[in-house]
Amino acid sequence: MYKNTYRRGPSRPGVQSFSGSNRRNRKNAKQTIDPSRFIKAAAPVSTVGYEPKHNFADFEMHPLLKSNVTNKGYTVPSEIQDKTITLGLAGQNVVGIANTGTGKTAAFALPILNTLMRNPSSQALVIAPTRELAIQIEEQCRILAKNSGLSAAVLIGGMPLGRQKRDLKDGSRLIIGTPGRIKDHLNQHTLDLSHCGMVVLDEVDRMLDMGFINDVRFILEKLPTEHQAFFFSATMSPEINALIDTFSRDAVTVNVKVAETSQNVHQDVVRFSGNVDKIDSLHNVLIQPNVQKTLIFGKTKHGVERLSRELRARGFKSESMHGDKSQGQRKRALDSFRDNQIKVLVATDVAARGIDVKDITHVINYDVPQTYDDYVHRIGRAGRAGQAGYALTFVDKG
Ligand code: AMP
Repeated sequence: MYKNTYRRGPSRPGVQSFSGSNRRNRKNAKQTIDPSRFIKAAAPVSTVGYEPKHNFADFEMHPLLKSNVTNKGYTVPSEIQDKTITLGLAGQNVVGIANTGTGKTAAFALPILNTLMRNPSSQALVIAPTRELAIQIEEQCRILAKNSGLSAAVLIGGMPLGRQKRDLKDGSRLIIGTPGRIKDHLNQHTLDLSHCGMVVLDEVDRMLDMGFINDVRFILEKLPTEHQAFFFSATMSPEINALIDTFSRDAVTVNVKVAETSQNVHQDVVRFSGNVDKIDSLHNVLIQPNVQKTLIFGKTKHGVERLSRELRARGFKSESMHGDKSQGQRKRALDSFRDNQIKVLVATDVAARGIDVKDITHVINYDVPQTYDDYVHRIGRAGRAGQAGYALTFVDKG
């Protein structure tokens, strides 16, 4: 168990109850997860290595993409890239089963950018479950497509419609967005997908968990029958299979999911008794010298807000991210976390989905996640791109 070596007395005002109604639109019922599943030593990072069969130079893609990949600092393809890019470049439909952080963005971005560069009348749509993930995909595509003249229209909620309509009118051939806002544009006839030949669904399992199935089907029905599809998901389910069967014939499945939890994340529990002990224990964890950058997960928007405020009152540089925050506030919080202006980000699952901040040392589950799948997703935020990370889960002594 994680040692609270710097214990202080319990006289501090603690955060009160962290409970409340869970308003997430979840299909999955809450699981009771045995705390033993939150404890696991990290495998040495070297065991996560993969011997790729290709170099980026081997791929039949536009020379500009090759030089942009090199400039981005990618020397060899990750496993999902190694196994997917050739299929994607050949126009195949691909189902990629891969955890977050495996390099799946470039795995689909390189083939679709290649087609967009080579065929001036081609169009691609990327659907992501959250605004943050959509923004991150656009950022990666912008770097990979540098000097090609391509630019993306980002269709996400919380941002003015006007700019998005202008980008669409100006003929952006790469469209990246979240299901609700894409559907809004389709309904307003500001987006026409009848000639869109490529579609990517990223984090499909999350998208369905968040209740987007009908929106996704609505959008996919607007595509021409002949199109190339990429489906990426950390897990598969009959519902996902049905979606793939309907919208993507003869898809090739590439599975690079190696373990149920991130191998390079050291996992442990922090046992507490009562709310005052809980916040004090968190305080004690956060002042450990190896705790450099921490993403804390809480269950409710209200609880997350309150915890962040309490941490600030205790002198920690902390911000919160949850569904009640505007897009601008969420972006500012994420940027200052990325730039190390704050060391602690407190978030709900939905707000944190898809966050790719490289140097998170610790993920703390202040509230136990709803499902083990959520747990795996949360702790995947630490120890990304081969670096060791730590995950600590707060468990009530009961
Ligand atoms: P993703 O799973 O696409 O979110 O990627 C996770 C992280 O790995 C991102 O920071 C990427 O920039 C990085 N990455 C992706 N592909 C490679 C590669 N071939 N070599 C090194 N880093 C990569």
